[in-house]
Amino acid sequence: MKKQKTRVLIVDDDREIGSILYDFLSKSYDCVAVNSAADALAALASASFDLIMSDINMPQMSGLEMIPHIVSLAPESVVVMISGQRMIESAIEAMRAGAFDYITKPFELAQVDVVVRRALDHRQRLERFRSRAPHRDEMEQRLRHALDNHDFVVHYQPQVEIQSRKVTGAEALVRWADPERGLLLPNDFIPLAEETGLIVPIGISVLQTACAQARHWHDMGMTDFGVAVNVSPKQLQEDDFLHTLAQILYGTGLRPESLEIEVTETSLMQNPEAGIQTLTTLREMGVKIAIDDFGTGYSSLGYLKRLPIDSVKLDASFVKDATSDPDDAALVMAIITLAHNLRLRVIAEGIETEDQLAFLRLLRCDRGQGYFFGRPAMSDEMIFAYSNTHYEPEVGCANKPIVKNKSTAGNLAQAA
Ligand code: C2E
Ligand code: MG
Ligand code: MG
Repeated sequence: MKKQKTRVLIVDDDREIGSILYDFLSKSYDCVAVNSAADALAALASASFDLIMSDINMPQMSGLEMIPHIVSLAPESVVVMISGQRMIESAIEAMRAGAFDYITKPFELAQVDVVVRRALDHRQRLERFRSRAPHRDEMEQRLRHALDNHDFVVHYQPQVEIQSRKVTGAEALVRWADPERGLLLPNDFIPLAEETGLIVPIGISVLQTACAQARHWHDMGMTDFGVAVNVSPKQLQEDDFLHTLAQILYGTGLRPESLEIEVTETSLMQNPEAGIQTLTTLREMGVKIAIDDFGTGYSSLGYLKRLPIDSVKLDASFVKDATSDPDDAALVMAIITLAHNLRLRVIAEGIETEDQLAFLRLLRCDRGQGYFFGRPAMSDEMIFAYSNTHYEPEVGCANKPIVKNKSTAGNLAQAA
């Protein structure tokens, strides 16, 4: 069967912008352009679209007000907003309303091209995930079996101080070592684990493994090495989460200050008061808190001020285009400045190139993580990454490289 061409709906009351977008996007996609939210909703009621690109500022109904209607009429489509506002608050407001991405006027067509491709990629990923739904029961059984069989393994990705390129710690990332299908990444199983509640026991086992590993690294002499662990919303809501965590710290003998818990903005939104209470208690225990994937969720910047947190992790999607897209560069700059004003540390995710690193260094971003420094790897490779940047010639063997495999730790500070 012939695959239907990707369909794009363009909504803008400014006819000139509407027709510029129409002419450009029609070269690659099947486009329809309308001039108001009412016309857009009428079009959506009678045809399906993969992507909706809409102006925010329109009379009668704004682009943001239109989103809930889009969600009910066309839940499978992605929305990109167009705005005349270049402020970070507007971008965050658009994402909070449910838009996938945001561009500001005036825009370059090359930029439109990138944003549209990214949104369509995202839609395709969602579609693939949905199409796997019929195997859900079987997947759930396999997940349970994997838990009993201890098939979940933890990999670690170095976190690096941007100015000095020294390794300060690692983020623990879970993988499923499935005997039949090989190593599966979190995106393949975390959504189902969340849905079924199995994320709670999986999360506990990751915390246990990561804390024991960090304690082991400390015992080897890497005493200032921290470990960051992702915690899901479900875990955070469990009544005994704090008790379990305290037990793990006690059992492994890891100092609470060496553990950073990563939570997403969305997970806090589900029950803000209880979430804030849990984080406050964690911080009183000495555990550090980071907001993960910052900028992609629904947070308002005012809310950030109320959170008991130590760091924000700047989402990789901003880092990716910061050196080529002025809008993303402006967002990154605004987020770093704001976070520093709130005395928060900024950890940039997804650094892949020297240029991105140079840009982040210029903006005084504190820490970074990404393939440029090292991919997530088994625990022993971290020893090499750490030793490579903490080499002290007179100190004896504890700080010398133990695993001399350069494959995962390429661009860290050179040994003194
Ligand atoms: P995250 O916490 O934001 O982790 C960063 C993700 O970015 C990791 O994907 C990492 O491999 C990937 N990454 C790191 N550097 C680069 C880079 O330079 N370029 C690109 N393109 N990607 C990079 P991974 O391991 O597939 O994990 C995906 C997500 O799954 C994590 O995002 C986190 O939200 C979740 N996750 C991972 N482990 C756990 C866990 O133990 N518990 C829970 N609840 N969630 C977890
Ligand atoms: Mg994380
Ligand atoms: Mg992240």
